[in-house]
Amino acid sequence: MLSGAFGIIGFSWSACPVSTDLEIIMLDWLGKMLQLPQDFLFSSNGKGGGVIQGSASESTLLALICAREKAISSFQAIDKGWSRSMIMNKLVYYASTEAHSSVEKAGLLSGLTCHLLPTDAAFSLEGDVLQAAIDKDRTQGKIPFFVVGTLGSTNSCAFDNIEKLGEVCKKENLWFHIDAAYAGAACICPEFRYLLNGVEYADSFILCPSKWMLVNYDCCAMWIKDREDIVKPCYITPAYLNEDVQEQTVDYRHISLAHEFENLVRNDHRFEIALPVVLGVVCFRLKGSDTQNEEMLRVIRERGNIALKSSRIRSLYIIRFVVCGKDTESEDILFAWREICLAANKILNSKDEADLREQF
Ligand SMILES: *Cc1c(COP(=O)(O)O)cnc(C)c1O
Repeated sequence: MLSGAFGIIGFSWSACPVSTDLEIIMLDWLGKMLQLPQDFLFSSNGKGGGVIQGSASESTLLALICAREKAISSFQAIDKGWSRSMIMNKLVYYASTEAHSSVEKAGLLSGLTCHLLPTDAAFSLEGDVLQAAIDKDRTQGKIPFFVVGTLGSTNSCAFDNIEKLGEVCKKENLWFHIDAAYAGAACICPEFRYLLNGVEYADSFILCPSKWMLVNYDCCAMWIKDREDIVKPCYITPAYLNEDVQEQTVDYRHISLAHEFENLVRNDHRFEIALPVVLGVVCFRLKGSDTQNEEMLRVIRERGNIALKSSRIRSLYIIRFVVCGKDTESEDILFAWREICLAANKILNSKDEADLREQF
């Protein structure tokens, strides 16, 4: 709600550090209200922390995929002869028949086999039932790797025995995911906190503030014990993000200002436009070497007045000038161009700053 009200564009940390900070603070705050184990809090300076996802369904899918990747790499570390697809065909994960449909759906989406296990008279999944299923699957050559425990099932508001399930997961080295999408919020109340006993066994834990905390749908809080487990499988670094490993979005705004910048570049013989300018992105470079371009960008960054990113198209090093501010005007384009020229001058040693001031 706060980041929406601020109107921030938080697609990468560097684009808006406060949006990341806000999320970190919020999730620690909520985690402390739930008395989650320290492992799940950023403030413990450990490996864990929370993240806001869209829905519970999405969070469970994410946990499942990351657990799959972890299982595949640990299996391949033992036996290099196994291909991904050979391992994937053998992977199985478990939940109770009372688990939310999203648990089974995550298997459909990720191509993994889900075994739904029977519950007791209180619709709760017990540790011995899980253990028996694992033993049976192992004897058949399957590879158990992931378990979903439900706290407050959708159908019956049943609670799996997460202490016992957690013990089994620990012993068998399986990723334990707890879906408390609905019931989790109640555990903030001291009289219901006991329902979370066993959460210390979880590798990931989810709760939807949109269920019971007067937060708009969709909003799902997800805590992970080891952030690496979800960062690593999702780690792809395109060249335009090589400096801070974050995300990028398409920009449809301020097209004429981009052309204005393009003209400034074209009118300076030291520079070239690397790609046709269509929308708000102008890819340009100094006509010199990659090293000169890198050096120029370093100078621009050190001055700290404008933010530019480098990238590569095919093997060519380029600098990306992107117009995306709502209030950006012609004079801002000139200001940015001046910053670029100052850096270029420094690199190429042609003019000094005073000469340039006259130019503008
Ligand atoms: C509501 C609920 C879900 C699904 O939540 P979405 O955010 O709609 O995906 C999953 N599990 C449980 C236990 C739920 O109560």
